[in-house]
Amino acid sequence: MKLILLGAPGAGKGTQAELICERLNIPTISTGNMIREAMKNGTEMGQKAKSFVDAGNLVPDEVVIGIIKERLAEKDCVNGFILDGFPRTIPQAEALDNMGIDIDTVLSIEVADEKIVKRMSGRRVCEKCGASYHLEYKKPNVEGVCNACGGALVCRKDDAPETVLDRLNVYHEQTEPLKGYYAKTGKLKTVEGQEELSDTTALVFQTLGI
Ligand SMILES: [Zn+2]
Repeated sequence: MKLILLGAPGAGKGTQAELICERLNIPTISTGNMIREAMKNGTEMGQKAKSFVDAGNLVPDEVVIGIIKERLAEKDCVNGFILDGFPRTIPQAEALDNMGIDIDTVLSIEVADEKIVKRMSGRRVCEKCGASYHLEYKKPNVEGVCNACGGALVCRKDDAPETVLDRLNVYHEQTEPLKGYYAKTGKLKTVEGQEELSDTTALVFQTLGI
């Protein structure tokens, strides 16, 4: 199965990607990791990417897609793959089509903004050891104190409501239009994210027929 996963930041896309990957034994292609890997391995596209990164610029779409193409040609992708984090914009989706990368299904995991903000703003991490907690779902034994090391629990800047809202706005503006793009080709499927992770996973598997 050749799958693209869509979903707002905090909708739980990464976790579902891992579970689908285990179930079907196909790799998750996450662009951030892949670009770092290609640069490290010095592939043709990796070297190109490095020239942009070294100059302090964003890696352009053609290079990212070139790296994806190199990665998809590896033998672990023979039964399919999950693209996580790409495409993020309609021009990227068009570029993917133009490069002949054929996708079977695009699955969008839908979670309301308010729920995402609530979930993410409840996250706390230990300053000392990095252990993670949640004010509602994974409370520490003592408020504000790490169970493991006694360090102070803090809210990361990435999880602060204003940061989360900014990222959600970027998602709605730039990435969400992809749903319309893929709906036109009949490839789009959607799943409502549930309170319980395992309930979302059950719906995801059911929707994908796996
Ligand atoms: Zn700790």
